[in-house]
Formats: sequence, structure tokens, C-alpha cells
Amino acid sequence: MNQLPRIVVLATGGTIAGASGNPASSAHYQAATVPVSSLLAAVPALKSVARIEAEQVAQVDSKDMTFALWAALAARVEHWSAQADVAGIVITHGTDTLEETAMALHLTQACPVPVVMTAAMRPSTSLSADGPLNLLDAVRVAAHPDACGKGVLVVLNQQIHAARDVAKAHTSAVDAFVSQCGPLGMVQDDYVRFARTPRQAWAIGPMPRAWPVVEIVASYAQPGRIAVDALVQAGVAGLVVAAAGNGSIHEVLAEALVDAAIAGVAVVRSSRTGAGHVAIPAHPSPSDGVFVSAADLNPYKARVLLALALAADPALARDPLRLQAAFAQA
Ligand code: ASP
Repeated sequence: MNQLPRIVVLATGGTIAGASGNPASSAHYQAATVPVSSLLAAVPALKSVARIEAEQVAQVDSKDMTFALWAALAARVEHWSAQADVAGIVITHGTDTLEETAMALHLTQACPVPVVMTAAMRPSTSLSADGPLNLLDAVRVAAHPDACGKGVLVVLNQQIHAARDVAKAHTSAVDAFVSQCGPLGMVQDDYVRFARTPRQAWAIGPMPRAWPVVEIVASYAQPGRIAVDALVQAGVAGLVVAAAGNGSIHEVLAEALVDAAIAGVAVVRSSRTGAGHVAIPAHPSPSDGVFVSAADLNPYKARVLLALALAADPALARDPLRLQAAFAQA
């Protein structure tokens, strides 16, 4: 008799594990309180899809995510994916910073089995909780042979997204997660379909033991240089700019950032618009060849990549051409 695939669920908290005394409210609740055993028990249909094992890796609101928790999660992914009969791994997570954790795991794991992250916009006690179906769908995707070799995947709202591309784009809607070029595929009951293949997963290096300090600053009307100067003074290794439009930076901020780059800080231009590719300047400007384009990565994903790149090779901070190549490759 064919055995069901063995899937490991690693739980970290979030709204999917949230609870409220008022089922009619989906905005007021306590995140990260329900244990993974109860989340699984709420979805009896899981038993007909996979043999599930679960581990409570953490119980946090993902707004409080840390590098230490990323390292712990990566270590559990490595542990379980090395077991010969584990077919896939599902990670439950809060939605607030899911896109960052997904990016960090995506860039550091050359995982032999599918790693699928899921979450929920509504707490488990809500009248229309989305967590149970998202969890079932994530397990369905993790158990599906087509999910292999596509890097870390994110499943919510019956859609499959690539870790590199997905971002939370709404405060409360169930369809809060979007990918710039659309989802990779869909899940509808036991029908799992990938419509396209994501960019080749690229493992930049292992999860670092010590992370370089990389912060985000933004360009807007009448900015000052106080924040950039203070960050450089504090010894940051890199700065990501949430620039306006196609990576435009106010001249006052740009001046401060050029000084930062001269001082050896890597400067990456991303866009605050939420979509689109940031052009590498074609016209001469004082920042040409000094700032790096984040391509189509949002500032939060660009920060993860920049920190990982600088952890792997600190000399990249003074080598914008090679750093640009890293952004082009990711
Ligand atoms: N604050 C929650 C979290 O990120 C929100 C959610 O999961 O939807 O953990």
C-alpha cells in the first residue's frame, strides 16, 4: 500500500496561531498563542493528504522577528530535510514579516525538498479564519512533486508565490499577498498547478553567525541628512534607500549617501512604490557607479540580500560593480 508523504510543519506563531475572545473581530486578537498541535487538530483533512509531524520552533508575533530565530528555523529546515523520508516542510509564520523570512531562507537554503511558508490574515478564532485552508493548501503544495526545485514557496489564499517576489500589500485583506508578476500557481482542493517557474534559486551562502548592520532610509520631500550621518557614525555596513519612483533620491539625501559610500558603506537604491525595476542611471550624476540598484526587490527584501551579501563578502561594500552583479543574480 502506498504511504502518504511525510510532511513536517514548523510553527513560529503569527496570526495563524492567533486567538480572540470575539469571533466577530478579525483585527483585535492576540497573535502567536495557539500551539501547532491545535492548529493541526482543527484541520482533520490533513490526515488524508500527509503524515504530519510538527515542531513548535517559536511562538512570536512576526513583527518581532529576529536573526536568531531565522537561524533556528534554518537549522530545523536543514535537520528535517536531511531525513530520507521527509517529502516536504511547511512553515507557519506571521504575515507581517513573512516576505523577509521567506527571502532569507530562499537565499540561504539549497533544500532538497519543498519548503512552503504559510500564514493567515485572520486569527484562528475568527468567524472566517483563513488559516485552516492555508495550512491544508501549504501541505498539499509541499507534498506535490512539482514543488521541488523552485526555492522557498509561499502559499496563501489558494495561490502559490515565489519567496523572492511575494510581498504583503494590504493591512487586513485575505488576499493581502501579491507577487509583481503574479503568482506561480494555484491550489484548488487537491488540484495543485504551477503555471510558471520562478527564477533559479540562488544560495548566496549559509545563514550568517553575525549579521552586518544594514538599515533602511527613505527619500521624501525635504529630507535631512541627520539619519544617514548618524547611521554612518554608528558604523552601519549598508544602507537601503526606499527611494521615490524609479529610484530617485532627493539631492540632499543623495549627497549624504554619496558621503556614506565614500566612507565605505554599501548604498542600494530600491523603490518605495511597491512594484517595478529600479533603473541603473544612464545619465551622469554624482552617484553614478556608487549606488547599486535593488532591481525589482522592495526595500525589505533588498535589505535581506544586502546583509547576506555583505556577510558573505564584506569587501562588496566598496565594490558597487560586484554588488550590482549580486543583485542582478538574486
Ligand atoms: N502581527 C501578526 C504577525 O505577523 C500579523 C499576522 O500574522 O497576520 O505575526
